[in-house]
Amino acid sequence: MAVSSSFVDRGASAQIVWTSAILALCMAAVAMVAGWWAVQSIDGRWLNEERTAIETGIFQIRTQLATDQNTAIIVDGDIGFDGNGYIDRRLTTVAGHNRAYIIGPRGRILRASVDGHFAGRTLLMSDAFVLKPIIDELRLKLARMQFDDPSLMRGNATGLTALETVGFSNGDQGFISIRPIDRPSSEPGSSLLLVSIKLIDQAVIKKLGTDLKVANLHRTTDPTSSPLIVLRDSSGKTVANLTWTPSRPAQALLRETAPALITLAAFCAGMFIAILLWLYKTTLVLEASRAQATYLSLHDTLTGTANRALFERRLREAKEYQFLAETKVLLISVDVDHFKSINDTLGHAAGDIILKEVSRRLTLEMPEDATVARLGGDEFAVIHPGIISEGQARWICQRLVQCTKSPIVLGNERITITLSIGAALEKAEEMSGEEMLRRADVALYVTKQDGRDGFSLYNEEMDRTRRERRALEVELRNALITNEGLHLAYQPVYDAKSKTIAGAEALVRWDNPRHGRLTPDAFIALAEETGIIDQLGEWVLRHACRFALEAGLPQVAVNFSPIQFRNPKLPATILAVLAEEGLPPERLEVEITEGTLLQNSEEVQAALGELRSAGISVALDDFGTGYASISYLRSYAVDKLKIDKSYVQRIDAEPAIGHIVRLIVGTASALGMKVTAEGVEDTLQSDAMTEMGCTYLQGYLYSRPLTPEAMTDLLTTEAGQSQRPTHLIA
Ligand code: C2E
Ligand code: CA
Ligand code: CA
Repeated sequence: MAVSSSFVDRGASAQIVWTSAILALCMAAVAMVAGWWAVQSIDGRWLNEERTAIETGIFQIRTQLATDQNTAIIVDGDIGFDGNGYIDRRLTTVAGHNRAYIIGPRGRILRASVDGHFAGRTLLMSDAFVLKPIIDELRLKLARMQFDDPSLMRGNATGLTALETVGFSNGDQGFISIRPIDRPSSEPGSSLLLVSIKLIDQAVIKKLGTDLKVANLHRTTDPTSSPLIVLRDSSGKTVANLTWTPSRPAQALLRETAPALITLAAFCAGMFIAILLWLYKTTLVLEASRAQATYLSLHDTLTGTANRALFERRLREAKEYQFLAETKVLLISVDVDHFKSINDTLGHAAGDIILKEVSRRLTLEMPEDATVARLGGDEFAVIHPGIISEGQARWICQRLVQCTKSPIVLGNERITITLSIGAALEKAEEMSGEEMLRRADVALYVTKQDGRDGFSLYNEEMDRTRRERRALEVELRNALITNEGLHLAYQPVYDAKSKTIAGAEALVRWDNPRHGRLTPDAFIALAEETGIIDQLGEWVLRHACRFALEAGLPQVAVNFSPIQFRNPKLPATILAVLAEEGLPPERLEVEITEGTLLQNSEEVQAALGELRSAGISVALDDFGTGYASISYLRSYAVDKLKIDKSYVQRIDAEPAIGHIVRLIVGTASALGMKVTAEGVEDTLQSDAMTEMGCTYLQGYLYSRPLTPEAMTDLLTTEAGQSQRPTHLIA
């Protein structure tokens, strides 16, 4: 059975997919932020290292200035000074000091060297402005020291170097190192001073950048540049700004690997989307199969109605609902009449179509909140909540009975089926679902007893009847086991012409411990329903045969129920009993009804054929009450017809009956059958039936059913008389 797509809950699948997608996006975002943060922090650290390297480089250039001066002085023993102001050329050549001066007391220039050439005693104007305050301050310091501790001034007195970063008036910037050149003869404050100037020009900066492998290290006038290193003089004034292009290795790496990363990310995203789509489809399929499984677990596969599991759930729900609404629940049990024989004669496919059609019609007839369920075979049940009166319940049941009255089309055939319905109307919170169903079934049973095609509403009387039947069943089984209480009465059958006893019909009686004597009407149907009939039938046959032998009865007639003929062993059983009791088959007559002939022609015909060929005679009982027409008799060869008492007893009142009886008798004799008139109660009837050609007469006019003893007496008495019997038993 296909499950409609509306049964599939797409929500769950979509939810899984959306959750996964959002989760993946979040993870991707977190990864990107983390990656970016890592790149930034790596590059930040790298930038700091570059900055430190540059600052260190500049610091080294500055301190190198002083170191070079010391070296120059130490190398030349007498401190690179020729007494008249000799300057080691290496200072301005190898060491690359732009300018070197030796300055005597009172600022007199003793020697000057500019860019590696001696420049006599010339001091560049721009240098003069810068040097003056530094020299003044240094001399003041020197004077103080010489005064405090002259020993300090011996040796190279390196600790007294003035090292400054300065901006020149011509726009240059540079470092200045001034150190005293110690002479023992010096007056305090009159030391010669060696001045070195190193310009921080583009070349120096560029070389520094090259040495440090810092890209594009250069000076800038823009103080907002980034990154920025500010060179300041001792007063904190900006002398120069340096900037460079940070190498940002992480970013570079990122840029280099970007195409590969993007490709990888795109590939991962593609894979992820593919997985999501697959996941979506898979969960949809799973959802669908889950929905289908749920549907199948709750519905009948053939008719699509609820199955027993769903029925039980709905019944529980209905009970809760009615509790809230203070109404009653109507539980209806529905049975398709004679479904088994429909199935047998028309085939299972036709049976299925009928079941589907019945469930369709039941569903159509019921409102939305009712549940129609198939509980198995041809058994349906309906739960109808919210019933307020018994009248409403009856009306609903009546509608269900009517719903199959229009024929069902089966190919070329149109067949009409009927339903048997039993219903229980209950305040459901007081009762279990099983009990409600049981009550509906009890009512259904009553409907079937009443001839099907209708409905009954459960009442407690039905249960009492059922209990009583159950008790009777137990007692009947018991009676057969103990052989106590069952008796046979014998009603003589007279020859219509000679009025002598031709035989007797055995009629069963039961002395019930509670009810006293019961006639067959009170227990044969019960025996048939419960299957006791086979055993009871055999008991009757055996005792009838025994009696016929003992009493010298010419022929004994025994009634057989249609149910007994369902047992294929029946002919064999009858013959076996005859053999065991020693009664010749010719002395037994088997009485069957039209019901027997109707149930399964071929098998019954075979069974009857077997009995007749063994010499047993077969009589068709109650002829005229059922469907059997006279022509019907041709195919069912029987030895005798027993015209039902309803004809016999109306023979005076209705002239038409006379014609019918005449016709029956005529046809029967043409077919070689004998005819018995049953239920002859007066001489008028007796005479009429005799006149019409009946062979035998049976009825209260001649004798009521007798006890075996009375029957024996009657036979004995008759045997002693040659005339027509005078003792008619009332
Ligand atoms: P049946 O076979 O038609 O038996 C004749 C019934 O009509 C008997 O009722 C009998 O007492 C009654 N009867 C006879 N003459 C007259 C009459 O003049 N007027 C009226 N009104 N009734 C008359 P009984 O004994 O109550 O049996 C009822 C039915 O029970 C029988 O109908 C038969 O079908 C069935 N039955 C009886 N014994 C057995 C048995 O051993 N096995 C089976 N399967 N069915 C039996
Ligand atoms: Ca009979
Ligand atoms: Ca009869």
